Amino acid sequence: MGQYQKIKGTQDFYGVTANKLRTIEMVSSKVAKTYGFKEIITPIFENSNVFIKNVGEESDVVKKEMYTFKDKGGRSITLRPEGTAAVARSFIENKMYANPGMTKYYYYGPMFRYERPQTGRYREFNQFGVEAYGSDSPLLDSDIILSGYNIFKSLGIKNVVLHINSIGDAASRLNYSSFLQTYFKEYIDSMCIDCQRRLTTNPMRILDCKVDKENIAIKNAPNITDFLTNESKEYFSNVLKTLDALEIPYIVDTRLVRGLDYYTDTVFEFVINSNDELNGLALGGGGKYANLINSMVGKNVSGIGYAFGLERISAVMDKQNAWKDLETITDCVILGLDDESKISAMLLSNELRCKGLTVEMDYASTKLKPQFKLAERVNCKYIIIIGEEERKTGLYMVKNTVTKTQKKISKDKIYEYIEEEK
Ligand code: AMP
Repeated sequence: MGQYQKIKGTQDFYGVTANKLRTIEMVSSKVAKTYGFKEIITPIFENSNVFIKNVGEESDVVKKEMYTFKDKGGRSITLRPEGTAAVARSFIENKMYANPGMTKYYYYGPMFRYERPQTGRYREFNQFGVEAYGSDSPLLDSDIILSGYNIFKSLGIKNVVLHINSIGDAASRLNYSSFLQTYFKEYIDSMCIDCQRRLTTNPMRILDCKVDKENIAIKNAPNITDFLTNESKEYFSNVLKTLDALEIPYIVDTRLVRGLDYYTDTVFEFVINSNDELNGLALGGGGKYANLINSMVGKNVSGIGYAFGLERISAVMDKQNAWKDLETITDCVILGLDDESKISAMLLSNELRCKGLTVEMDYASTKLKPQFKLAERVNCKYIIIIGEEERKTGLYMVKNTVTKTQKKISKDKIYEYIEEEK
């Protein structure tokens, strides 16, 4: 049996669980489309350098978590651990920076990280993400955050808290890094071997070390907020001003730095607030990356994006019983009370389906009771009844199961009637 077991940290999704992930993707992409995002599909694997150079050599993702292997041609290949660097590679390779105006894409699919599996943490997991290139305005940051916020709203998820911070522009980070280098020097012997290396390579990474997180030096270290340039301060206050106007609640979390190197200025996470083991788990996160494209190809194009974890969202929706609001309601069930009426039901169902409604009918029975049972089971909004009398007059009985009203409607006008009531 052993060789036929799934790999640690991976999951099978089938039937209901697969449907849940697909539903989250569908709702998320529907919302993203209203913001002008189009879909992008990039390969599951890339040249390792796409991630090493851009996610950051000192980040945990690159240092410890990548699935990297040599292919038969001796190339170093990595299963993508995240979407931003891969989409940026595609943006550059396809010269999308030459497009006038903004470039906005959403994506979804599996990501791979060699992490210790635990609640909400897997080695293969699915993300939905967006990336927007081509504007340096703080309005874009707020709009992107709003789109994420609206995805949670459309999914019916409650108690998601937006944590937001500014990690400043390049100059702010240089200030902060050189301060930290001096600051941590006297404590470094009490820190882990990784932090000892980080002191020279990337001292900011010491702040989100998982091993040393209780170390007093880390706890007492000043925040980046104190080192922001005036431009970064103003930028951040403009982002917050728009979030206030949009009435998006947030917590400014000065310790939020995010684990990936390409971020600048605005970084954020959507965190679940609950009284179970999911409490505090980030459902998604992202930020602005003003210099990523520049460092890859020398083009001055700013970007911003986020990624959501579908498994975590699904787990929260299970806990909050949020699926019921998303269950697709069958628009109509059409009841035929004799064989002739069944044919009329077929004709009407064909017409309504061609116009985009979801229609069910019972093929076997002409009795009322089993047909009503079907209507109940599929949770339909309209029941349409056709018997001898209805066939003669051409007026079909249409029951609205939500308002509990019924009306005889000319068979040619039923679609319009349903659409008008929507
Ligand atoms: P990141 O790319 O690290 O910013 O992660 C974005 C989101 O992806 C997180 O907020 C999680 O919801 C999800 N995520 C990241 N890593 C994992 C993982 N190992 N297992 C499950 N979900 C993850």
